[in-house]
Amino acid sequence: MKRRAAIYCRISEDRTGAGLGVERQRQDCEALAERLGVDVVALYSDNDVSAYSGRARPGYAALLDGIRAGSVDVVLAWHEDRLHRSPRELEDYIDACAPREVATMFVQAGELDLATASGRMTARIRGAVSRAESEHKAERVRRAQLQAAQAGKWLGGSRPFGWNVQADGSATINKREAREVRRACEAVLSGASLGGLAADLNKRGVTTSTGRPWNATTLRQVLRRPRNAGLSVMHGQIMGESTWPALVSETTWRGVCAVFNDPSRRRGSTNRVRHLLVGIATCGAPGCGLPLKTASMTTRTPGVYRKIYRCTVGGGGHVGRDVRAVDDHVERVLLGVLSRPQSAPALAEQSEPSGESQRLEAVALRAQMAEAADLFAESKITGAQLAKINARLQERLDDVEAAMARANRGSALAPFRNGRDPEKVWQSLSMDRKRDVVREMMTVTVLPSGRRGKVYDPELVRIEPRKSE
Ligand SMILES: [Zn+2]
Repeated sequence: MKRRAAIYCRISEDRTGAGLGVERQRQDCEALAERLGVDVVALYSDNDVSAYSGRARPGYAALLDGIRAGSVDVVLAWHEDRLHRSPRELEDYIDACAPREVATMFVQAGELDLATASGRMTARIRGAVSRAESEHKAERVRRAQLQAAQAGKWLGGSRPFGWNVQADGSATINKREAREVRRACEAVLSGASLGGLAADLNKRGVTTSTGRPWNATTLRQVLRRPRNAGLSVMHGQIMGESTWPALVSETTWRGVCAVFNDPSRRRGSTNRVRHLLVGIATCGAPGCGLPLKTASMTTRTPGVYRKIYRCTVGGGGHVGRDVRAVDDHVERVLLGVLSRPQSAPALAEQSEPSGESQRLEAVALRAQMAEAADLFAESKITGAQLAKINARLQERLDDVEAAMARANRGSALAPFRNGRDPEKVWQSLSMDRKRDVVREMMTVTVLPSGRRGKVYDPELVRIEPRKSE
């Protein structure tokens, strides 16, 4: 009677037979069965491609059951690596095969001799060596990924807009695209809408790196990339300086991100904040201090409404003041301050590169985090220690990054520098940007008037210079 053979196939990303499909493994095993003169009575297979080590293999379990039940005399597999993934599995396999002297034959590596003590020892040594190799490989891969991320290397995918990528993963600035990124960042910081910027790029025939037209979403994605500021990222975390040249300064990049994160910007374009002081001016009633909203008021003329700023406390609220009148008043005061020659030094002082000290501190903090990650990769500290170090550094880094974002948002006054006509500059700004200017320069408090229907009284709007943070 011919010996009964079971074929076992497994797809995995192991180094041996990587990408070798089940079909190919089966054909090779069947050819082997023919050479050996055995009958193939069963075929078991598993798909391990996305497996983490230790994942259950139903095909393998069924094979062992077949061996233990005595329905298999010989096991055929493509390579030893297909059969066991760990020394523990090998021991189970030896235990299952030993009582019936089940033989194991490989297409690639000959016979696994489990019938003798020296054969089993050879199998165990081979298994241990293979295990050690795969562990080392995992370590190497993890370390290489970490290093690549730390160095900001390109890990694949379509070419990022703004750079030319070389074969070795390094990059040089694509001058034309980099100029577009810088222009777009500046425009966003001055309050331009993403939709408008995308339309402008399309009109000028500038496409994405894959040759497609821009829209607000793709443009936002490009402008948000930490890589723009020469930072590298892994798992959503900034790891440090990238080896790629930066397109913009880190403070500019953070300022752009801060603009994107501004809740007033997240409203749809139809639902934009249309009034200068909504949420900025506060109620001056004793003990209130709530930011004001707007409401529509009927007037003596039927069908004509006027907008008022009002506090929302208790029905009528503490204050209600005509939007136009308050806005005009605040604008006049603001432009008056900006036009004064005394303001020039303040504006000039602001024009120093802002956020530079924070940037340097962020670089130092990230370097410390990278060092800790290295120690972890080299098994010099535990995961728990790494987490503890990271949590401490991250807390400080969050503060520093927030300060950097604030520092650059503070450049709302930038357009007024260099002796430009404040009124002209003011008129050219978007509502969002005007609001930034107000926020930066002053606090506005609307005081209760005590009487209704009174003519607008500028005395009841208190405007104070904002103390610098
Ligand atoms: Zn109030």
